[in-house]
Amino acid sequence: GSRIAENDPEIYAAIVDEEKRQRFNIELIASENFASPAVMEAQGSVLTNKYAEGYPGKRWYGGCENVDVVESLAIERAKKLFGAEHANVQPHSGSQANTAVYFSVLKPGDKILTMDLAHGGHLTHGHKANFSGRFYDVTHYGVSEKDERIDYDHLAELARETKPALITCGASAYSRIIDFERMSAIAKEVGAYLFVDMAHIAGLVAAGVHPNPVPHADFVTSTTHKSLRGPRGGIILCKEEFAKKIDSQVFPGIQGGPLMHVIAAKAVCFGEALKPEFKAYQQQVVTNIQTLAARLTEHGYRIVSGGSDNHLMMVDLRPKNLNGSEASTSLDEAGITVNKNSIPFDTGTPMKPSGIRIGTPAVTTRGMKEDDIVKVADFIDEALKNVGNEQALHAIRDRVHDFMRAFPMPM
Ligand code: PLP
Repeated sequence: GSRIAENDPEIYAAIVDEEKRQRFNIELIASENFASPAVMEAQGSVLTNKYAEGYPGKRWYGGCENVDVVESLAIERAKKLFGAEHANVQPHSGSQANTAVYFSVLKPGDKILTMDLAHGGHLTHGHKANFSGRFYDVTHYGVSEKDERIDYDHLAELARETKPALITCGASAYSRIIDFERMSAIAKEVGAYLFVDMAHIAGLVAAGVHPNPVPHADFVTSTTHKSLRGPRGGIILCKEEFAKKIDSQVFPGIQGGPLMHVIAAKAVCFGEALKPEFKAYQQQVVTNIQTLAARLTEHGYRIVSGGSDNHLMMVDLRPKNLNGSEASTSLDEAGITVNKNSIPFDTGTPMKPSGIRIGTPAVTTRGMKEDDIVKVADFIDEALKNVGNEQALHAIRDRVHDFMRAFPMPM
């Protein structure tokens, strides 16, 4: 029996409902995944009880001998996985990791050059609603209207004009390989630090399915819960010369005690990612997105930039006279989970953007291969032909739930 059920039936009921939702819906949110039972067990372990301010061997609290083992293993595995000189595994989230990088080498008012949120960047890449947009003098680069890929020539021009202290790259909604070598050359030419936020693609990078930014960047951050398939959290990788600055900026700079249960789960995740099966998984993630993109194109949708090299794509719904908001609501009714998303040069509004973002890390963890993905694309198309028709959408949902029985959750 569940202890939560006994002690807190209201929370228990919500967890059970959420488990059902995850089990039977088709999960296509590009930033989500299903962590392994081992990752979940580590997160639910007694390590949650421990305070461990500081770093292995240099703590402010007694009784840290076991958590020191855990954090040292997490650091060693992260370094090995990405070929990094230094790793900090304490950031509570991707946003915290990014905050620590900015604070470690920038002063308020410094210039940064970053990817526009409207073209796929993240809020922490200088958006005005985020601290990064309020503290720094931000110039944005983006994709070209012609091919919807990063316009490196324009980026280089902007870098020469504005002479930023730091260039941020990496994205939340960009489906193409990022040329880190080129980014590094541009940063070097103008004397800027290069900071790569690989949150979305870290799993692909770990598996060698996407080029690794670590050899080219001064700082690399990531979340651990997206394609990397670990617990919710962040990491920072950097050159040895910045190790001290980064560590002291994370603690005591912006955080207090590390979440040792989450750090244990990160270590388990990195251990899983070092295994050969992880490479096969990530290759299937990319095969699946390409299969999905091709099938949706056959159905008459426009894929931003014409396709995908990674784990996600942006679907332009304008050829179907739909917006991302009504599409995501109707897909939800049909048991298919995506998010509405602006696309580059969007003609819609932030609340009613022209696109949806779709990713394959989660369904690939559930065991889907190409034939299954074609069915997923057909379900999407069928639901989008029935926008607003609740009865039809619920009939599709019954079939979706039935379909998902073949793809068990890793529990
Ligand atoms: N960086 C990128 C590129 C992201 O897509 C995200 C998450 O959406 C983050 C950072 C922030 O991560 P978190 O939600 O853990 O703060």
